[in-house]
Amino acid sequence: MAKKTGSEETVTYVDKSGKRLDGRKADELRKIKVEVGVIPRADGSAYVEWGQNKVLASVYGPRECLPKHLANPYKAIVRYTYRMAAFSVPDRKNPKPGRREIEISKVSGEALARAIFLERFPNTAIDVDVEILDSNAGTRVAALTAASVALADAGIPMRDLVAGIGVGKAGGHLLVDLNKAEEDAPDAVDIPMAILPNLGEVVLLQLDGLMTQKEWEESQKLAFQHVKKVYELQKEALKKKYAVEGNSGDMEAGARAAEEGVVE
Ligand code: UDP
Repeated sequence: MAKKTGSEETVTYVDKSGKRLDGRKADELRKIKVEVGVIPRADGSAYVEWGQNKVLASVYGPRECLPKHLANPYKAIVRYTYRMAAFSVPDRKNPKPGRREIEISKVSGEALARAIFLERFPNTAIDVDVEILDSNAGTRVAALTAASVALADAGIPMRDLVAGIGVGKAGGHLLVDLNKAEEDAPDAVDIPMAILPNLGEVVLLQLDGLMTQKEWEESQKLAFQHVKKVYELQKEALKKKYAVEGNSGDMEAGARAAEEGVVE
């Protein structure tokens, strides 16, 4: 895909047939898989595979907030911890949390908090821990997608699910769900977002790079359009688990029913 022009190397991010470096179309998401209830010891949990990204999310709580000086007498607090495993990146990552992980934890916790009816649980804490097991760009949005499913699995009342989506630009093309090669383009713009899909509310938006107002407007349209697919997969995964438990307890039959779209 790389062409040499003099001493410079140029990469074609979308070729003449409309294909990206990994064969996707400009507005095509990577393959996403969502599983609910994968960690028996937690109150709620989820596993998300999003392309190469692999994310495990657990939820404990709401439970008494300790240490007590952190408790809020009017509402629950959300403590969100995003961590990358040492083996999740090509250059082994120091297991000690870095500034990036601390920042992602902070903004992601605030994003989730917007969705939860926190005021119903004064003086409590909801602990959300997310481990990135493998990565290829877009881990923070995959993590939030998993975390909100884990919250639902824990039975925590929410105004809406939180669905993640990445949009941006590489090689002059607007793209949905950028991978690492695209995020590293010289003109790359990366916009990780988390959205409450039914309420149409943006709860996380970060932006690296420069784009025109027209590109910005178009990228936002793409984000709202494609986040619906992520939301559908979250819902399907939840239905798959709870349709099973709510029906006869026959796991196989419930899972088959969910796959066939029989379960509402
Ligand atoms: N990455 C890495 N080492 C690090 C941090 C990130 O190799 O210490 C890689 C990882 O694959 C990650 C990608 O860079 O998914 C993009 O990182 P970014 O900070 O943009 O976050 P993300 O897109 O994963 O939310």
